[in-house]
Amino acid sequence: MESKGSNLIKLLLLVNFSVLCVAQDFDFFYFVQQWPGSYCDTDKSCCYPTTGKPDADFGIHGLWPNYNTGSYPSNCDSSNPFKQSQISDLTSSLQREWPTLACPSGNGIQFWTHEWEKHGTCSESNLNQHAYFAAGLSLKQKANLLQSLTSAGIQPDGQFYSLSSIKGAIKDGTGFTPYIECNVDSSGNSQLYQVYLCVDTSGSDFIECPVFPHGKCGSSIEFPTF
Ligand code: 5GP
Ligand code: 5GP
Repeated sequence: MESKGSNLIKLLLLVNFSVLCVAQDFDFFYFVQQWPGSYCDTDKSCCYPTTGKPDADFGIHGLWPNYNTGSYPSNCDSSNPFKQSQISDLTSSLQREWPTLACPSGNGIQFWTHEWEKHGTCSESNLNQHAYFAAGLSLKQKANLLQSLTSAGIQPDGQFYSLSSIKGAIKDGTGFTPYIECNVDSSGNSQLYQVYLCVDTSGSDFIECPVFPHGKCGSSIEFPTF
């Protein structure tokens, strides 16, 4: 015979267990910046935004919620579409820091819409749309990749640099170990395409990456001009 008391304990355990088991939204963000020279210097080429050629600087690609397992959620809430009106105060900063290079030329709205709907909606419990884009802008200011690289003598001059020197320069400049993604230029050279840094779930502080994406660069990496 079970007492009422033990049934109550079972119920409490069950409730507690189900709360603990609710899937965590995500574990950390990848903050991904792209080198425009490497986006453009491929067989696919690129198109400058309607607002003009971007600065010769890294641009933001995205802030991507991720799991510690390496997998990631995407397109989490179709009821929360991108609304330009929510970020009108950020538009000129976004045009400068988060420019689109895809063809045909656009003003950025399509790119930001894609990033919000695919990635941003998966962290909306922590960052609403305005906070999500503001977080990207603020992280870019905190991690000045071009300055980290150039102060180590690594310049966008079309020369080749070792992967370890690139990683070391970014670690010295930002305090954190990056993941480097390469692509291939129209002559087949491996080149510095994207830099990933990890960020805590509040979107404000860099952390060491719990897990790195897979993929390989050559040991000698071109840093193209833009
Ligand atoms: P690709 O196929 O170029 O590696 O990635 C295509 C897209 O998938 C990226 O632009 C990004 O939206 C998404 N993606 C790729 N790798 C990751 C990852 O490790 N984490 C997250 N959250 N998204 C990723
Ligand atoms: P992902 O899924 O890779 O985060 O997002 C890439 C999507 O955004 C692609 O559909 C791509 O065409 C579009 N896109 C627009 N502008 C850019 C850009 O400047 N860089 C990259 N990587 N993708 C862009």
